[in-house]
Formats: sequence, structure tokens, C-alpha cells
Amino acid sequence: MKTIDTLGDLRGKRVLVRSDFNVPLDGDRITDDGRIRAALPTLKRLLDAGAKVVVMAHLGRPKGEVKPEFSLAPVAKRLEELLGAPVKLAKDVVGDDAKATVESLQEGEVALLENIRFDPRETSKDEAQREELAKALAKFADAYVSDGFGVVHRKQASVYDIAKLLPSAAGLLVLKEIESLRKATDNPERPYAVVLGGSKVSDKLGVIANLLTKADMLLIGGGMAYTFLKAQGYEVGKSLLEEDQVPTVQRYLEEAKANGVEIVLPVDVVAAEAFAADAKFEVVDADAIPADLMGLDIGPKSQEIFAEKIASAKTVAWNGPMGVFEFEAFAGGTKAVAKAMSEGDCFSVVGGGDSAAAVRLLGFDESTFSHISTGGGASLELLEGKELPGIAVLED
Ligand code: ADP
Ligand code: MG
Repeated sequence: MKTIDTLGDLRGKRVLVRSDFNVPLDGDRITDDGRIRAALPTLKRLLDAGAKVVVMAHLGRPKGEVKPEFSLAPVAKRLEELLGAPVKLAKDVVGDDAKATVESLQEGEVALLENIRFDPRETSKDEAQREELAKALAKFADAYVSDGFGVVHRKQASVYDIAKLLPSAAGLLVLKEIESLRKATDNPERPYAVVLGGSKVSDKLGVIANLLTKADMLLIGGGMAYTFLKAQGYEVGKSLLEEDQVPTVQRYLEEAKANGVEIVLPVDVVAAEAFAADAKFEVVDADAIPADLMGLDIGPKSQEIFAEKIASAKTVAWNGPMGVFEFEAFAGGTKAVAKAMSEGDCFSVVGGGDSAAAVRLLGFDESTFSHISTGGGASLELLEGKELPGIAVLED
């Protein structure tokens, strides 16, 4: 992969960087700035080399329209604090204000273009439209650095098309992510356990097919567990369920048996009357979830089993919280998995925006994990063994 060094002397040059600043917000307060922190090494490196840095990023899903609630203003402020260098936020993406901001940029300064997804061409399926935006962006700079790991699985103007128009390189974050995730997936030290959870069930079922040929153990919690329990013939009450995926999951269970892959499902769940922080709840066996309750976490017996399995592994990859960890009553499973991984004698990788945020919000020391990925979908696609367009375009 092409590195920043291949771009030559950057003093006085303008460098366009794609970063991932898609942080969780509560109003205009950033509740987890992990992605901004992860972007700092590349930005500092470029500033130290004397470059003028122009950053592109998205926030939320504005769907190609200018929506003030998705402005990067809170990000610009936080970035300036963390970076200790001036960050000028443009009022548009490639309009007059962006042009003026970029042109007035001095050595050692950063310009941040407004939310790149305010422009519908960014995510367009029409290549010509994406190229048009990429060409406008390319005029802002002499070189391009791809460092938004969270978006490298997307064929988008600021990720993919732009790399074909300028001398391009992978940033430090992207390099670190790829190295760590490949270490877990290409040739893992065994036993290799993968822990899956979260709420995007059908998105994540795809990864399982690939893992059935790679992992030694699959630990399934979170919303996904209920489709598995249903596939085993249990009723799951009001829990998250993807009924149409039940046959696929049944096939996975058979394949796992044939391949000698151990699938570990919850044996008990914390079941609540409603999806709420103060909902009444009880612990029930996984094969006896009452019809009027929903499973919002794996239960204490399951937590113990999951922790033991993790402790026995040499490589552990985790994507997706075990329960609704945002509510204290349903955070136990996610805590148990994070604790076992942080204490275990294993190469431990966490992927997924919410999983990574959970590790930090629940107070774990990030340095006790081998790698905490900033990318959800991108890390999953790497686990799946897919080729990512935003990476392929940077290979030399
Ligand atoms: P990630 O971002 O780590 O890939 P997802 O986005 O797939 O994870 O899922 C994260 C969300 O899943 C969290 O907000 C959490 O509350 C939710 N979740 C976990 N378990 C359940 C469950 N049993 N029912 C409903 N939601 C769940
Ligand atoms: Mg998520």
C-alpha cells in the first residue's frame, strides 16, 4: 500500500485528507471523540511536514441535503482543541466559501470542508456524478491521503474516485487498521474466537458464512442471538428477530457442526417489558422467553460462559454489543465480554462504532486491547474477507 512517504516533499503543498469524524452527538455535544483522536497522527504528521491540510469528512446521514443539525461545527471545535492548530470550517463542500477557505490556508493550518454528504454526488451510484465532485475536490490540493478507515468499504467520491485523480496514499490510521485486522483474520493464532452482537442483524449475518471457515468459536449475543434462538426452535417473545433469516441461520448452524466450529449462544437472557432504561426486567432461560418480554442483554450464566470461552482463546475479534449497553440494566453482557478481552492473554480486536464506544463509555482502558477499530462496516467487511474499494485503489 502506498504510504505518505511516497508523496515526497510536502512543504507548502496542499494535501486533501479523508478522515472519519462520524462521532456520536447529543445535541451539539460530542459524546465519544475516539474517531477524532484516531485521526490526529496523520494530521500532525502532515502539518509537521509543512503541508496545508484540507480535511473532508461526513457526519450522520444528511442524504445529500444541507441540514444544519449535521454540520461539522462541533467536530471543528473539538479537532482544534485536540490538534492545537487552527481549524477553519468552510460553510460548504466545494462552493465559494470552501474555495476561499482553502486558498487562504497557511502552512500549519487545517481547513475542514463542511459535511461531504451535504453534496448528493458524494454517495451517488452514478460514477460520472461522483467523478464530477472528485474533480472539484482535486482542484483544492496537490495530493490525497485516505485516512477515514470507517468509510474505506464505500465507493464514494471522497474515498475512491478522488484517489484516481491525485497522487494518493494511505494515512497512518488506515495502515494501522489494516495491519491489525489482517493479523486477526489472515493467520490468527488459535483458538480464534469471534464475538458478534449488535442490532444490524442482517448486515452481520453475511460475515458469519466466511467465519464458519476461519474461526474456531463463534459467540453470538446482542440482537442477532434471537434469530439464532428462533432457528433452534425457541420462541423469543418481543425480542429483535429477523424471521426471514431463520433458514439461513439454520444452514449456518449445520455448516458450523460440519466444520467443527463451535457456536456459543446465550443460555439465559435479561428480558424486559419495554425498550427503556427503567423498564421492569427479569432473567429468564433462553428457551423460555415469555411472549410479552424482549431480550435486551445476555444473562449472567451466559456472561460467565462467554468470558470463559474468551479466556481460552489466543485471538478474539469482537463486533457488536451483547445488549443495550446504553441502559445500565442491560450493560452486563457487554461489560463481561470487554472485561474478558481486556484481561485475556490474547490478540484482541474490537470493531464496530458502538462496540468501540461501549469499551470507552464503560470505562475500560483502551490500551488493554490490542486494537480498537474506528470502523464498523469496514472492519466487518475485512472480517468477511472482502476487497474494500477504498483500499484497493491505494495498492501500488
Ligand atoms: P456496532 O456499531 O458495534 O457495529 P451495531 O450498530 O450493530 O453495533 O449495534 C449497536 C446497538 O445494538 C446498540 O445501540 C445496542 O443498544 C443495540 N443492541 C444490542 N443488543 C440488543 C438487543 N438485544 N436488542 C436491541 N438492541 C440491541
Ligand atoms: Mg453501530
